Amino acid sequence: MAATIQTVSESKELRGLNLIAAHSHIRGLGVDPETLEPRASSQGLVGQEKARKAAAVILQMVKEGKIAGRAVLISGPPSTGKTAIALGMSQSLGSDTPFVMLSSSEIFSLEMSKTEALEQAFRKSIGVRIKEESEMIEGEVVEIQTDRSVTGGTKQGKLTIKTTDMESVYDMGSKMIDAMTKERVMAGDIISIDKSSGKISKLGRSFAKSRDYDAMGVDTKFLQCPDGDLQKRKEVVHTVSLHEIDVINSRTQGFLALFSGDTGEIRSEVRDQINTKVAEWKEEGKAEIVPGVLFIDEVHMLDIECFSYINRALEDELAPIVIMASNRGNSRIRGTNYRSPHGLPLDFLDRVVIVSTHPYVKDEIQQILSIRAQEEEVDLTPDALALLTKIGQETGLRYASNLITTSQLIVAKRRQKQVGIEDVQRSFALFYDSGRSVKFVAEFEKRLIG
Ligand code: ATP
Repeated sequence: MAATIQTVSESKELRGLNLIAAHSHIRGLGVDPETLEPRASSQGLVGQEKARKAAAVILQMVKEGKIAGRAVLISGPPSTGKTAIALGMSQSLGSDTPFVMLSSSEIFSLEMSKTEALEQAFRKSIGVRIKEESEMIEGEVVEIQTDRSVTGGTKQGKLTIKTTDMESVYDMGSKMIDAMTKERVMAGDIISIDKSSGKISKLGRSFAKSRDYDAMGVDTKFLQCPDGDLQKRKEVVHTVSLHEIDVINSRTQGFLALFSGDTGEIRSEVRDQINTKVAEWKEEGKAEIVPGVLFIDEVHMLDIECFSYINRALEDELAPIVIMASNRGNSRIRGTNYRSPHGLPLDFLDRVVIVSTHPYVKDEIQQILSIRAQEEEVDLTPDALALLTKIGQETGLRYASNLITTSQLIVAKRRQKQVGIEDVQRSFALFYDSGRSVKFVAEFEKRLIG
């Protein structure tokens, strides 16, 4: 069997997807929009009220433009919802707000310099909402002519369309011809074509074309041509990130790099040109800037150079909201011999708004696990949920949450539908939490040495 080779960037992308999937139940911060008071359980978030209220106040600062030059730090023990709250913040800002997750250790790679990796992450977190007018053609197809023998393999053709009072001929490119073939468009069909995306929809068929109907004596004066203009204009809005625009315009990379994730370093002249272009679009009302959220996990892994970079980048006109997470107390600032709170340099710490998260109580763990089970469409018996909750209290929310998925797989093998206590027990025995796994290895080592 051929081995599957996975590139570094692919595995990074997949890890990103998994991380997001673990939070797929989060839809916002779950606070009252007027008072910013958190609801006990809302939009997928449970408990952690103080941190959620603080996060909502920070969002208010963002909306009022008062966050410039500052960053947010969420500190708290592992699995206490730091990522979940950051994601909730980005979702409260709108569905097309970018959310970029960066694990600090990711930026130390051989592929590019640390500051380039950071710059790319910053630019991925800035959305550009581009407005385009698209032309819609709507009417009855009179004739389709295609010419497939054009050199270079590109197909061309002509499309004649009529509305109630007018007939017009359009040039078609290969994309449009392919879409017409796929939709099996024929003369007599009533269609709409979005000229910018090439999307074709069949709206119906003209009765007048059907001789059968004539023969059957059906009144064909209901010529089903929609009234109105032959061409309609509608506004199409799409949001892309500044980084995507950079890559597409970088001569050495090209847009295919977006799919492989293998973008390499991007020249600063390209970025300067893009910034100028985007500023022009903004001026002309063609684009809007959507600052997103850049979430930097394990922030104590960044070194002094990274902090100076972020310090500067926060001042930039095009800065995203930077939310960092740390589960460390006092630690050494990487690249120096100094120790400081959360491993952040003191001058940087001055710019940071700190929010803390606290360990969950039993009921909260149970509610979160129950929401996760619903999200994964897993049916748990009350006993199974109680056992998972106990495991969650002892080993952490993330491990207990992972057991939901594995228990579901076990139950599927048994051809049962509901996950019972025995399925959770089997999962627990098969998959180790970090505490047990370390103990096991330590015992094994003792045996080897002895
Ligand atoms: P770490 O320090 O290990 O990175 P974290 O504090 O970022 O952990 P999360 O990853 O946010 O913790 O939480 C672990 C899991 O529990 C995720 O699936 C998350 O969505 C869920 N979760 C955590 N807190 C809450 C909450 N208050 N409400 C709903 N789900 C939560």
